Amino acid sequence: MGEKKKSAKAKKEKAKEAKAKKEPEEEPKKEAKQEEAKAVEPKKEAKAVEGAKAAESKEAAEGEAPSLIKGEECPICHNKTLTLTESMTDIPFFGKTYLFSMNCSSCGYHKADVEADESKEPCKYTLDIDSEEDMKIRVVKSSNATVKIPHVGSIEPGEASNGYITNVEGVLQRMKKIIEVLRDDSEDDEDKKKAKNLLKKLLRVMWGQEKLKLIIEDPSGNSAIISEKVVKSKL
Ligand SMILES: [Zn+2]
Repeated sequence: MGEKKKSAKAKKEKAKEAKAKKEPEEEPKKEAKQEEAKAVEPKKEAKAVEGAKAAESKEAAEGEAPSLIKGEECPICHNKTLTLTESMTDIPFFGKTYLFSMNCSSCGYHKADVEADESKEPCKYTLDIDSEEDMKIRVVKSSNATVKIPHVGSIEPGEASNGYITNVEGVLQRMKKIIEVLRDDSEDDEDKKKAKNLLKKLLRVMWGQEKLKLIIEDPSGNSAIISEKVVKSKL
């Protein structure tokens, strides 16, 4: 991860953006209005992560075809327009994992979660991200998980928390969207500046130019960072 020439870097940025767009992730797409996240600094709660859907794109890539149940009653708007989706993915070094989601076509309500087929112990995963290659490392995040990126921010469990299967880049993209909301919504110049600096930092991490720690804690055990270099410990 050394220095990169300017033009090469610009090119790389383009390529990276394109790549981020088509990066396959398994979470169904409808979005929650509320996200469970906050950035450490600036400390205002993020209210929406509209854009995070871009990071967590579109399909249920592998595993069985998802099963759908349509026409259920929505817990929010009570229209019978809720679709339940369930699919299974076999994740190497983690096992069979079920993906559940609820999407309401009337009010946009969305809820998703993941659950491992076999029950797992509470866990904590710590990953030192230090190269572009690390962006591909697979991440399973359940709704019970707390995602911590020291000095950047965290994603907390709770009502609005979703579970998903993604990769390190997907997690960073989500954090990026959260901070973008802070940057855009903040009235305070100092907060805006902090947000901008954090966004720059995240981009450098995505390009392998800066290191970062990623920690996932999950009392349900249904989360994982799947890599040889991850440190797994008891929670
Ligand atoms: Zn609804």
